[in-house]
Amino acid sequence: DAPLLQADNIRTGFATARGQLRAVDGVSITVAAGETLGIVGESGSGKSVLGRTIMGLLEKGPAIDITGTVTFAGRDLASMKKSEMKHFWGPEVAMVFQDPMTSLNPFKRIGTHITESLRFHLGMKKDAARDRAAELLSMVGIPEAKRRLDQFPHELSGGMRQRVVIAMALACEPKLLIADEPTTALDVTVQKQILDLLASLNDSLNMAVILISHDLGVVSGRSDRVAVMYAGSVMETAATEEIFSRPRHPYTEALMAAIPRLEHPTHTVLQTIPGGLPDMTKPMVGCRFAARCKYAQEKCLTDDPELASGATGDRTSGAHEFACHFPVDTPEGMAALVANEE
Ligand code: SF4
Ligand code: MG
Repeated sequence: DAPLLQADNIRTGFATARGQLRAVDGVSITVAAGETLGIVGESGSGKSVLGRTIMGLLEKGPAIDITGTVTFAGRDLASMKKSEMKHFWGPEVAMVFQDPMTSLNPFKRIGTHITESLRFHLGMKKDAARDRAAELLSMVGIPEAKRRLDQFPHELSGGMRQRVVIAMALACEPKLLIADEPTTALDVTVQKQILDLLASLNDSLNMAVILISHDLGVVSGRSDRVAVMYAGSVMETAATEEIFSRPRHPYTEALMAAIPRLEHPTHTVLQTIPGGLPDMTKPMVGCRFAARCKYAQEKCLTDDPELASGATGDRTSGAHEFACHFPVDTPEGMAALVANEE
């Protein structure tokens, strides 16, 4: 079966005064129908730009250079006209951002946000759309849904607003939901509720989800597969259980070490790995993680490791792939570690 989403060799560059910043530098991902893919990385790793590129939200032009292909349900996104994109956003793919106010108009009632989409995409009549909007609000766990329809965004808490945004995203029953740091602005208890909500919707609607987070703990229990991004590139990808039980990339290993052990890992600060991202306006020579890697050897400074599965070279979508010359938990990795400790 062809995957629902297939993004091949995506490169997204932004023109800056210092040259082109390669925010996404050759990323390929696939998402099957109903699957949840977690994309994890520090701020600046390119995960949000990747999400927006896949959505077709970034417009190619003098300031933005985009190459690579995105195929969704067998259709090439680049070939879609603007008028077609209007029917792509909503019924096919929807997106939830970190700040619910990005998607809400402060002067518009909650109900109107949802009914507009129902009427535009599904041609629903006013009353039917209103009933459906109330249904959607209940579905995302908003009590007294009917009464909420007439309220304005500022009358709701941050968590409730994010639920409204999710209800809006679900209005047209998209095949794929891209959630970019959907809970980062919320407190820990509400975070968990919203993440559980997304997971249950993924189950009950068989809707594929791309869950983007800086927090490995957030995606851990809620993704089928995880892709770890660093400096615009995927460092490692595997089934969630596999990546957690046997990380192969030193960056993934470092991220895991940053997860608090004793409590539920909902609040991980990835910035505990010393050092910062490389200058992404300069050509990348060697491994982009080398400056922060405790396994780095000379080879790492000259050869950019390719994303591949270590043992067999098998490149099916379920494979465990990593981009490293001295992977963790291998004789080469051990030898590199010993060499560096001497
Ligand atoms: Fe570290 Fe080298 Fe692997 Fe890069 S290729 S992650 S520098 S060991
Ligand atoms: Mg982001």
